[in-house]
Amino acid sequence: MQIVYDYPLYRPPSEANSVIFQVTIGCSYNKCSFCNMYRTKKYVERQLDELKSEIDLVSVEQPWTRRIFLADGDALNLQTTVLLQILEYLYLKFNYLERVSCYAMPRNILEKKDTELQTLREAGLSMLYVGIESGNDLVLRKITKGASQRQIIHSCRKAKDNGFNLSCMIILGIGGRTYSTQHIIDTVKTVNEISPDYLAALTLNLEQGIYDEFMFKYSKQFEPLNDLELLKELHILINGINSKYPITFRANHASNVYSIGGTLPDDRENLLSLIHELTLNPGRLRDKRLRRF
Ligand code: SF4
Repeated sequence: MQIVYDYPLYRPPSEANSVIFQVTIGCSYNKCSFCNMYRTKKYVERQLDELKSEIDLVSVEQPWTRRIFLADGDALNLQTTVLLQILEYLYLKFNYLERVSCYAMPRNILEKKDTELQTLREAGLSMLYVGIESGNDLVLRKITKGASQRQIIHSCRKAKDNGFNLSCMIILGIGGRTYSTQHIIDTVKTVNEISPDYLAALTLNLEQGIYDEFMFKYSKQFEPLNDLELLKELHILINGINSKYPITFRANHASNVYSIGGTLPDDRENLLSLIHELTLNPGRLRDKRLRRF
């Protein structure tokens, strides 16, 4: 017997080897104009009994499991008491479990008290994945992110202050040509204020199903960046990151023009040289037909 997932199912690239339990279906917000992930789903919180049966099943088949990812789009939206019951059951059933993680929206974090976050952390929820997307308030409004720069910074710092490992995502090109400079400069400032443990840079690729909505919400013709402009944003991002602690940086998502990664600031100069080389040799970039968001 296997878990019957409610597809589509998403997880961060770094959770490729994790067991996934869908504790919620869809996204409780589901309004970001660039995101097509859960548009076909209505947000639902799974019944605990049902989940426990799945956990029982997988714990027998994969007792050595060390990492678990709680899907779908914002599992942290669950009430703390419910999440605690899930975490307790997971650690009871998987003797080798080391890490449980999930996606979280800024508002999920802001809605929880410090004491709730601390209890969740102590119960073994250790890593949160938060989409920053942009640090610029105008861009955030245009993409209907549902959070301002201040709220994003506040929520991420709150998560870190309460002991969570934090992995943040930003999106290159989401300001279009008009707002590219503001987007990337404010994104650098935001990342530096947060100082996440991990940072992933994705690249905007609008899928067919949301293209019209994205353009409508932008309320002005959105001009996508070309590859050289995307490399310029990447250069400014890597050059500008100057956070208190080292950041594991990745721009290796299928949406990116090229896969790069390293630790910042240590690998900064190597990464900047590589970007410079790519600018001179755009033929080395990923084939556009292979790029997807
Ligand atoms: S980006 Fe995240 S919060 Fe926004 S709609 Fe998609 S899953 Fe929901």
